[in-house]
Amino acid sequence: MNVTPACRFCKYPLEHTLVDLGMSPLCESFLTAEQLNHMEPFYPLHVYVCKECNLAQLEEYVSPEEIFTEYAYFSSYSDSWLKHAKRYTDLMVERFGIHNESLVVELASNDGYLLQYFVEKNIPVLGIEPAKNVARVALDKGIPTLVEFFGEAMARNLVGQNKQADLILGNNVLAQVPGLNDFVAGMKILLKAQGIITIEFPHLVRLMDENQFDTIYHEHFSYFSLITSEKIFAAHGLTIFDVEELPTHGGSLRIYARHTDDGTKTVTDRVIELRKREEMFGLTRMETYAAFSEKVKETKRKLLEFLIKAKREGKSIAGYGAPGKGNTLLNYCGIRTDFIDYTVDRNPYKHGRFTPGTHIPIFPPDRIRQTRPDYVFILPWNLRNEIIAQESYIREWGGKFIVPIPEVEIL
Ligand SMILES: [Zn+2]
Repeated sequence: MNVTPACRFCKYPLEHTLVDLGMSPLCESFLTAEQLNHMEPFYPLHVYVCKECNLAQLEEYVSPEEIFTEYAYFSSYSDSWLKHAKRYTDLMVERFGIHNESLVVELASNDGYLLQYFVEKNIPVLGIEPAKNVARVALDKGIPTLVEFFGEAMARNLVGQNKQADLILGNNVLAQVPGLNDFVAGMKILLKAQGIITIEFPHLVRLMDENQFDTIYHEHFSYFSLITSEKIFAAHGLTIFDVEELPTHGGSLRIYARHTDDGTKTVTDRVIELRKREEMFGLTRMETYAAFSEKVKETKRKLLEFLIKAKREGKSIAGYGAPGKGNTLLNYCGIRTDFIDYTVDRNPYKHGRFTPGTHIPIFPPDRIRQTRPDYVFILPWNLRNEIIAQESYIREWGGKFIVPIPEVEIL
């Protein structure tokens, strides 16, 4: 029996598909040689879109407890992300006058990568981070952190202890929240009368417009636009009064919200303009999603067509990179060692391991120079220019690059 799932936000039955990427393992579950002979869990990667509120979403196939309680990703490892965090804290102090008697609360505060910059300015902070090992790093750095999942109950608890926030922020957390209404209701409760909420998430319009279907993972339950986030916030008595478009994660939005009855901050033209652009793009029409679904299938066919032809001509193909998004792409397209002999990655953790589901071995980058492949298949296409410049020596033996997204391209 197939039960129609219901929308995570408005409970409307989900009858429309954004894209169905088939069955996939969790994209960060790289395998050791010993694990190759064991069973591997695969889950559906079927994204629906709600006709009522336009929220694009996966069912909760894997619980957040399973994914996030010992999370391997530490934000502090990336220099560009740290710069992004530092700029943000300067902006908040300058624009909203956040000062040393304010309280800043970050939801999914990770290892304190962002809150540390508020601490430097003597601004009181509170981090909330469910992954124990990651929260421990923040605590060791002297950043007050609660190891819990955020929601309404926790917000009431904090308010009971006289803690309310002048600024609540959440970067790339909203997509990972299965109980979306509980989470937003919690922010409403925790926010002071004239407080501000800022939330960053990858923009659904960019995902669709640039065919970034491989940025869909089991860990990301929801995919947002401005229009949909306005509906969700409005349902909880919150109004989005400003929005910024950022280059991070393939194109993100930073939304600014306040209590609906807080008249001290007017809604900017940027909100009105982006809302119009999203309507023009077709986000409120189901045909737009059906067309995207078809575009993704055609991308797979074209990519396989190229790979089959290359293999028939006796060419060798190596991969470059082993990012999470690469695993969505490889599993959806069914690309294994029948097409790609191996891939390389700079992260030593991945050396000697195999890509989840497709079992392609991962080596250090030198391997390319040693084996001189005819093609190098770039999996982290967002870094294509950087990788092409850095690996340009493959031209010495007539090597070429394959970029799979937005559409297969040979360079
Ligand atoms: Zn809905």
